Amino acid sequence: MKTLDTLYINGQHVTPHGTEVLTLIHPISEQPVAQVRLADEEDTRLAIAAAKTAFPQMRLSSREQRILWLQHLHDAVKAREEELVETMVDEYGCPLAFARSTVTRAYNSFLQAIDLLKDYSFETQVGMAKVVMEPLGVVGLITPWNANYGFIAGKLSMVIASGSTAVIKPSELSARQTAIITECLHDAGLPNGVINIVTGLGNVVGAEITRHPDVAKISFTGSTAVGKTIARDGAATMKRVTLELGGKSANVLLDDVDLETAIPLALQVMSWNSGQACIAGTRLLVQADKLEAVKAQILKHLAILVPGNPRDAKTTIGAAVTARQYERVQDYIRTGLAEGAELLCGGEGRPEGLESGYFVKPTVFVNVRNEMTIAQQEIFGPVLSVITYRDDAEAVQIANDTVYGLQAYVSGKNAERTAAVARQLIAGRVFVNGVYDEPLAPFGGFKQSGLGREFGTYGLEAYLEPKAIMGL
Ligand code: NAD
Repeated sequence: MKTLDTLYINGQHVTPHGTEVLTLIHPISEQPVAQVRLADEEDTRLAIAAAKTAFPQMRLSSREQRILWLQHLHDAVKAREEELVETMVDEYGCPLAFARSTVTRAYNSFLQAIDLLKDYSFETQVGMAKVVMEPLGVVGLITPWNANYGFIAGKLSMVIASGSTAVIKPSELSARQTAIITECLHDAGLPNGVINIVTGLGNVVGAEITRHPDVAKISFTGSTAVGKTIARDGAATMKRVTLELGGKSANVLLDDVDLETAIPLALQVMSWNSGQACIAGTRLLVQADKLEAVKAQILKHLAILVPGNPRDAKTTIGAAVTARQYERVQDYIRTGLAEGAELLCGGEGRPEGLESGYFVKPTVFVNVRNEMTIAQQEIFGPVLSVITYRDDAEAVQIANDTVYGLQAYVSGKNAERTAAVARQLIAGRVFVNGVYDEPLAPFGGFKQSGLGREFGTYGLEAYLEPKAIMGL
């Protein structure tokens, strides 16, 4: 069993002051694999103090210097690519392809920040005022377990580009992945205190970051419930917040859609990251007359959803992250049945042939009404709710009838109709007839899916504060 007992504070790998130990359970063998000694409030305060001390120098660093640091960060993460992928698959039980794409996204985010920095004007003239975009100071980065490297690197790239310093609190459930990416970030050789990493519990380390007066901003990715706590408690010190929260994304199939392409896509987007993705398209909206054809197509293409050994190239669905997460999904499946939804496939229990591991059966419910629990709450597992509508207007109304607004999907042959629906969907991103990757486009949620945006210029400016100087 591995022991993870260091934090990264002020450029040093240090022993935590905290003494609480968390045992990590492997999601497939269900056996203990690592013991993690967790940070406490005192460790968190030391990390914040180091970041505060490093800020004045960081603030004055030139564009060229930041570009160089970002390049070093990219190179250092890329250099350990295979180890990062392997550790992610092993710690987390996700399919190899997903781990690989997460690692690629992680190191590429430093290059995207370089591109942004090259063209960004930190000073502009507005009438008689010189407007200077200033870095914020110490930024707390609080991240979830479901794509640890991607969130850490994406947020950190903006901190460095903006000239701030970071205290990173990754999920305690990703401690093994954090240990290796910490080594990469250290190898990049930035000045001491610019990057600090304190793995600990949310209600201990995360809460200390949230209340500490020396933290200027928090960029948080995680659940809506915790996001609300951070927004509320951070207000006491008027923290800037960027909150990337949960979702219950609608995938609208218009009645002229080609089901032969739309259904495989629907199964892909509902099962992203084994269903443990905030952007998963978990509500499939279909025209009522098409329901039987949709059901037939889902059953025909079900082979896309293959749970199993994450290292097997055929596997598209890995294990749920913890026993708790597995049980949570089972509860939702039972609730769906109790509220009158009808199972098309899947259901309770493990998939056939997988006797150990937190594997969930890919599950599709039909005859779901949008007010049902399974259509309103984020399940975070490969569970799809098929809901019918009468016309485009009702499709839009159902799609938007949710507290969330992170992402949405629409497919259909008529370009005008798909565009009209896309414009009416209330979501931070809308994908039309496919899935796309535009790393510079803003990412974030309407309504309870979040506050603010990440990526591109929108993301960079979330780490900057305008200052108007007049009379120069
Ligand atoms: P979570 O909210 O439980 O935890 C996220 C992070 O917050 C962890 O590091 C956790 O330790 C910390 N935390 C917990 N309590 C805290 C507190 N009181 N104060 C400060 N920090 C605290 O989420 P999770 O289970 O790790 O991740 C799954 C959730 O994340 C889902 O709801 C998912 O939709 C969401 N998510 C959103 C996005 C997005 O970009 N919008 C991306 C991925 C995941």
